[in-house]
Order: sequence, then C-alpha cells, then structure tokens
Amino acid sequence: MKVRTRFAPSPTGFIHLGNIRSALYPWAFARSQGGTFILRIEDTDLERSSQEAVDVILEGMKWLGLDPDEGPFYQMQRMERYRAVVQEMQDKGLVYPCYMSVAELDALREKQMAAKQKPRYDGTWRPEPGKTLPPVPEGVQPVLRFKNPIGGVVAWDDKVKGRIEIANDELDDLVIARPDGTPTYNFCVVVDDIDMQITHVIRGDDHVNNTPRQINIFRALGYEPPVFAHLPTVLNEQGEKMSKRNGAKPVTGYRDEGYLADAVVNYLARLGWSHGDDEIFSREQFLQWFNLDHLGKSAAQFDDAKLRWVNSQHMKAMDDAALAQLVEPLLRQRGVEPDARLPVICGLVKDRCDTLLVLADWAQRFYADVTPNADEAAKHITDGVRPAISMLAKTLETNEWTKEAIGEAIKDVLRATGLKMPQLAMPVRVLVMGTAQTPSLDAVLAASRREVVVERLRKA
Ligand code: GLU
Repeated sequence: MKVRTRFAPSPTGFIHLGNIRSALYPWAFARSQGGTFILRIEDTDLERSSQEAVDVILEGMKWLGLDPDEGPFYQMQRMERYRAVVQEMQDKGLVYPCYMSVAELDALREKQMAAKQKPRYDGTWRPEPGKTLPPVPEGVQPVLRFKNPIGGVVAWDDKVKGRIEIANDELDDLVIARPDGTPTYNFCVVVDDIDMQITHVIRGDDHVNNTPRQINIFRALGYEPPVFAHLPTVLNEQGEKMSKRNGAKPVTGYRDEGYLADAVVNYLARLGWSHGDDEIFSREQFLQWFNLDHLGKSAAQFDDAKLRWVNSQHMKAMDDAALAQLVEPLLRQRGVEPDARLPVICGLVKDRCDTLLVLADWAQRFYADVTPNADEAAKHITDGVRPAISMLAKTLETNEWTKEAIGEAIKDVLRATGLKMPQLAMPVRVLVMGTAQTPSLDAVLAASRREVVVERLRKA
C-alpha cells in the first residue's frame, strides 16, 4: 500500500505552531514511507476564511520545508464534485430529505434536554419500510440527512488513542447538504479523503468526534476508511489550548524572529513524538526515525525557552557558510553590506546566539559603528591602561593581520607594560566590540578590519 497523507487546514486564522504540527507529522510519515503528502485547504467557511490566512499556511509550510507533493486543493473549487456525490447518495437511497424546521428542531432539543436526554435528531423524516412519513410542508427546502446505520458500533484502532468504539445509536443522522444544496463539512472531508486516496489521516483530536460519522459515510460510499491518528492538543505556556486568541504567533513570526526552519521542525517533532531521549536531531534523522508508534498520548505544552535552546543548538551545529547565507539578508535589511569575512564571523560568535537576529546583532559589530557600553567603558578603560592601548594601536597599524600575529602583538604589549591579559583585553574588547563579553580577543580582532580596530582603539 502506498502511503498518502494530507494536511487539511481551515484558513480561518493565522496558522500557529500548534496547528502546523498537524502538517509536520503527515509530511514526515509520507516522506519516511516513500509516500505522498497532500495539501488541502478547507475554505468552505466563507465568512471566516481569508486569503491572508492561506498565504501564511503556504509561506509557513514552504519555510519549514513541508512541501506538498500534490495540492494545494481548495474545497471551494470542488463543489461540483461534492454535489455529484450527494446526487449519487440520493440515487442509492443513502440519504433522505428532512423538512424539519429550525423551530421544530429547537423544540425537539428542549424537550429532550428537559427529559435529561442527549439532544439528537429523532429520525422523524427517515423513511423505513411500513412507516408513514409526515406530509411534506409546502415551500420548504429540505436538508439531506445521511442514513446512519442503526444498531452496532463504529470502531477504529486509533494510532494515538488506541481502540475507540462508538455505538451507532449515539450518532444521529448527519445533515450532508443544506437546503440550498451546499454540502456540509464532514461530508466534504470524506469525499476528499476518498478522492485523494488518503491512507492515513493524522489530525488534531478536536476531530475525534467527527471520525465515527465520517467512517459511516466512507462505508456507505463503498470504501474502507483510512488509518486514523488523532494528535493531542498543544497547550500554551499557561496551559490553555494554543490559539490565536490567547496570543499564539503565526508560524511565519518565528521565521521573522530569526529561528531556523530545521530547529522549529526539531522542536515541533518532539512536541508530541519521541525517539528515546533524543532532543536535538536533523531533519534527515527525524525522517529516518519517524513512525506513528511513538506519538505522545497526552497534551504537549509549548515552551518558548526550550524552543530558543533547540534553536541555539542548531545554530551551533550549523555550517558557518550556510549560517552566513541566512544572516546576509538580515544585515542588508539593516543597511550593512557584508563581505567575505562573514562566515568566519558567524563561526566566531554563533555559540553565543540563540536566534539569527542575535547573530546579526553580533555580526553587525564587525561592519558598522559600535557604541562602547558606558558602564563597561568606565570600568575597564582607565588611565592605567591607556598607554598600553595606544601602544597596541600603533603595533597593529603594520602588524601581520592573522590571529597568531595579533596574539603575539598583544603579548608584546603585556610584556612591555607589565599588565595582565584581562587588564588589556577587556578595554580593547569594549572599544572594538562595544562589550567586554566577546569571543577570544585575537580571533575577534583578526576578523575585524585593521583600520577600524586601530581607529576604535585610538578613541580610548
Ligand atoms: N480543516 C480541519 C481543521 O483545520 C481539519 C480537518 C481534518 O484534518 O480532517 O481543523
């Protein structure tokens, strides 16, 4: 069986990390099985759907490298197909018209609630052998209801939740087409999953109540349902369901804040799936390891500090030249023109950075003006070291410009002045980099431009 998975977002809000995890797992499963990953945009809620939300989905997936093999398909463009299947179900007697008005449905619900029963459609218009249906009211367009099986259970082996069994008598006859003929959500999903030959439905567990209804429609149409895996919710740091309403950022926000796509993939992978105790892994490693047997059963909680840490680990491990490529546009945005030194600079400072923005801040010090931190300057740039600083500035005017030669020049000044390394190194760092907290001084100076270093030292 060739694996076919799908991600089926509704573009009703900007997609956040919790949502896009439901794209990551089906993508990873398809990739790890040599299968096909499909993107389907469920845009039938016209009032709440927007093109901007679609764009964030497409951009976010592209950034994270979750490329679909097929799609995006848009449900609004498939209406004719749904109507054809509605017709087919009518022809086969799988559905029936129901003329119950909204007022009658409300009255029914109230009566059931008063009797402490679960509110559900009572089958008034369901045709049965020997049953006389009420007279069809005039001028009323009916909805179409699916003849849910009577008796028995619907069961499936959920890859996350285990076996789930629902009695058919719990499920009332679902409306599959509204009075104006438009198909309803649960019905469209089934038609799509059939037409797209989906083998594994991996989605959020907010859909678990839809699944038994969908399974019955699959079977009525003559298809066996796919394998289901219902992922537990992602909670925010306050322990609430992650959502735009309580501050979840759009996925693309993380790109703009300087996170690496591979780090976000790694972080999201761990947010609901595990491979032993492994925390940091590459995309390739993830695809080798991923399966549906190690999906977590309990809700995962988003942790911003952990995401930053994962990002810092990926930055540290990343090739300097590749990192430089990502930082380059950020520097340009700031009006800084980088040069061939950038990979070396990235290599020097990357283990102090947890996002690309922080890395760009550091890199910028090698290209643009720096303002020495006032407190540090007052503390380290004292009259006692000024002669040593100007001696160093003089030597560096003509010194060979390598880390080793610069290191020697510093030692020469220490020997000549009797100062200790930190007494000279701290003020030089503050003057050249703006702060005393820098990587090793000889390396920092070697990665800086001679004229700039000499000029900054002269400001002491
Ligand atoms: N469109 C649904 C959602 O965004 C997903 C439906 C599905 O995966 O079956 O929640």
